[in-house]
Amino acid sequence: MTPIRKILIANRGEIALRIMRTCREMGIRTVAVYSEADRAAGHVMAADEAICIGPPPSRESYLSSEKIIAAAQRAGADAIHPGYGFLSENAAFAGAVAAAGLVFIGPRAESIAAMGDKTAARKLVRAAGVPVVPGSDDAVRSVADVEKFCAKHGFPVLLKAAAGGGGKGMRVVQKAGELEGAFAGAQSEARSAFGDDRIYIEKYLEGPRHVEIQILADRRGNTVHLGERECTIQRRHQKVIEETPSVIVNESMRAAMGKTAVMAAKACGYENAGTIEFLVDRERKFYFLEMNTRLQVEHPVTELRTGLDLVALQIRIARGEDLPLRQEDVVLRGHAIECRICAEDVENNFLPSTGRILHLKSPSGPGIREDRGVEQGGEIPIYYDSMIGKIAVWAPDRPAALARMARALREYELLGVTTNIPLCRFVIGHPKFAAGEFTTNFIQEEFFPEALHREDEALEVAAAAVSAFMASEELQPPPGSSNGTPPPAGTRWRMARNDLLREP
Ligand code: ADP
Repeated sequence: MTPIRKILIANRGEIALRIMRTCREMGIRTVAVYSEADRAAGHVMAADEAICIGPPPSRESYLSSEKIIAAAQRAGADAIHPGYGFLSENAAFAGAVAAAGLVFIGPRAESIAAMGDKTAARKLVRAAGVPVVPGSDDAVRSVADVEKFCAKHGFPVLLKAAAGGGGKGMRVVQKAGELEGAFAGAQSEARSAFGDDRIYIEKYLEGPRHVEIQILADRRGNTVHLGERECTIQRRHQKVIEETPSVIVNESMRAAMGKTAVMAAKACGYENAGTIEFLVDRERKFYFLEMNTRLQVEHPVTELRTGLDLVALQIRIARGEDLPLRQEDVVLRGHAIECRICAEDVENNFLPSTGRILHLKSPSGPGIREDRGVEQGGEIPIYYDSMIGKIAVWAPDRPAALARMARALREYELLGVTTNIPLCRFVIGHPKFAAGEFTTNFIQEEFFPEALHREDEALEVAAAAVSAFMASEELQPPPGSSNGTPPPAGTRWRMARNDLLREP
């Protein structure tokens, strides 16, 4: 066993805080790293120690493996947790951490490399008997190669970056005339996003669902799965709402997907927590999409349904412990849903919104979990991802979970930056979503800014503004009250706010 007493978290925002919380519970000290834009950020405040690693642009801070490893050594950390995004799926970084004598809390560099190249990953898992989305075996070099594939397999196809991630470098091609432009577009997007412009082809599945399986594996190859997450509600191939269980997965399908996911993980000698993503077609056939070799944004729904702490298990595996549970010990209970809360303007083409959060009152009460990286008064900088945090709920069944999420989103008050909460409310309250009838095109097909209940939204913004004002009023010393005098300003405003929000 390798002792881990101090962990450097090579990340920011909600995930850095999430990891620190488990560290604290385990009696492990934490080191934050931060860019100059994040001096007063939540993760810096929450850590036991914090080290500035450079200017705001990620390339010069959160993506600098040298600076991060140097910070870990300076702080005397034993291990580095990469979170998600940034360097989390960078095999060279994982290798460099190990070479520096530190523990990388994640898989071995070889496994990251094996799964990081999508064409290589597809070949690897297919050889292990895992069904993959039909597509080209290797990267294609020219438009002529794509034409050849389409002549054989037909349209539509999806051009994808071999080094892809975050939905970048992807182009749907419906007919021959679109091929040339799409190929050039995918190539240049892949080149600028990943420094690698290799493109391969997949058959474009019409109206699929995205269902993924969480796995855990220890150093000795013991591997279990923790059930599925339904991540079909996406915008531009990026997840917005996730839930578990999936309404389309029954027990036998779960067992089959779980077994396949374990096979895929074993194919690359996987260790630690990972996720096998599948696309599911209308006949409920599932196909390997890719493996994410890290903790996922949406891991809380799995934690709520299994009662496990995935970060704690990651740390225990990384220090050399055997998995403390076998497949038959995994208990799946109730229903969990997560909404990603992002600073973006859904009525203005999802433009990122930056600035200071002037007022924030987040939901609480039964069955609610919030993971957030920024407080009232905090800044949403322009340099990083627009996700502020996540709201997850648990309830005994799906209808109760939907009602609980609707309630949570109603309680959420945030002023200063614009958020996607109206979109989340729209989806959670949509009859087709409630009926479980949706595909990855749901938002594109159903959501238009005009569909929002503007009147409700306006009322809630007004109510939040009243709350904010009320809070500032309450900084004043309370006025002396006696019979016959009107209630103090704070109370009046609170009453006004309640009137505003009361159901008609
Ligand atoms: P990235 O790694 O960039 O996130 P993925 O391969 O994980 O890309 O795909 C992201 C999303 O794009 C999927 O969840 C799905 O909605 C869509 N997608 C990917 N491949 C296909 C495909 N072959 N057919 C239909 N949709 C796809």
